[in-house]
Amino acid sequence: VSVDQQRRIQVLPPRLANQIAAGEVVERPSSVIKELVENAIDAGARRIDIELEAGGARLIRVRDNGRGIGHDDLPLALSRHATSKIESLSDLEGVQSLGFRGEALAAISSVSRLELFSNTYDDTSQAWRVTAEGRDMQSSVTPAPHPRGTSVTVRDLFFNTPARRKFLRTEKTELNHVEEVFRRLALSRFDIGWSLRHNQKPVHQLGPCDSELAGEQRIATLLGREFLKNALHIDIEATGLRLSGWVGLPTHTRAQADQQYFFVNGRVIRDRLVAHAVRQAYRDVLFHGRHPVFVLYLELDPAVVDVNVHPTKHEVRFRDGRLVHDFLFSSLHKALADVRPAERDSQDQ
Ligand code: ADP
Ligand code: MG
Repeated sequence: VSVDQQRRIQVLPPRLANQIAAGEVVERPSSVIKELVENAIDAGARRIDIELEAGGARLIRVRDNGRGIGHDDLPLALSRHATSKIESLSDLEGVQSLGFRGEALAAISSVSRLELFSNTYDDTSQAWRVTAEGRDMQSSVTPAPHPRGTSVTVRDLFFNTPARRKFLRTEKTELNHVEEVFRRLALSRFDIGWSLRHNQKPVHQLGPCDSELAGEQRIATLLGREFLKNALHIDIEATGLRLSGWVGLPTHTRAQADQQYFFVNGRVIRDRLVAHAVRQAYRDVLFHGRHPVFVLYLELDPAVVDVNVHPTKHEVRFRDGRLVHDFLFSSLHKALADVRPAERDSQDQ
């Protein structure tokens, strides 16, 4: 389409509008999994099972045992800007759910063959199936068997957007991305049981953790025994902020910053302010070019952090960035200072 061409203004048909929105949130199979699993978590699921075929390009299925979606809400679940999670701007300001934009299912269903089964067990034990088809994304709801909870199946991702389909990498590369997303999600909620299967074979099987030991077992499974052996457990609280988790000893560093997980109120984020505070805390104890490892959880009043910065919600904005920065720096600095003398001479790797 040439820019010089004179055209009338038109409202985009729903599918096209959704496909454009999908460009922001659906990059590859792992992003579909992130969105579907976040919905399962928001639905209060205690068990989440993920299945993939061909790195997710052929099939992605996420099944949960959460509260489900009622019959009358089903067509809405697949429409854009439809959400059960917020009703007003003030809800958004203190939002605690992972989702709130109401666009993931609409976006995913516009670039795949999506089928959703759900059962709420509210008044009947009838479950329903919904799919969205055609240009206008009319959805159809029919009775179907399903236990309490929701399953979403996404087949043939990007089948109708060839330019996007071309960006999918090999099965192995896509699976690696999925595993990384799985790791983050499983690290975000120790109380949930998880499984991941690829091409009918189990990749991960994680029971819910009911003790500290079980939690450490999960860390070891997802990040390796070495991580756990070389990390300090911390739990520090001050001025309405709480920082807990594991920080790697200065003697256990990596050439890449590939084992760094930072969660804000249960949401994994990348943030410059956080990265800076961590770097400062490790500054005197790390060799140049080496990267620390950590899994850290920051909890604070949801009202003082803005999560609506980017469609993928990987970024946040703190109302008082200075306070957060200084709290992170001083907590980590102190934790590391306590071990420093004994560890100083044994920098390895
Ligand atoms: P958002 O999560 O931002 O609300 P989505 O498009 O991801 O938007 O989902 C739309 C709505 O569908 C949600 O608000 C929720 O009510 C419902 N929903 C989606 N997935 C599930 C699920 N696994 N269990 C229960 N409800 C769900
Ligand atoms: Mg969502």
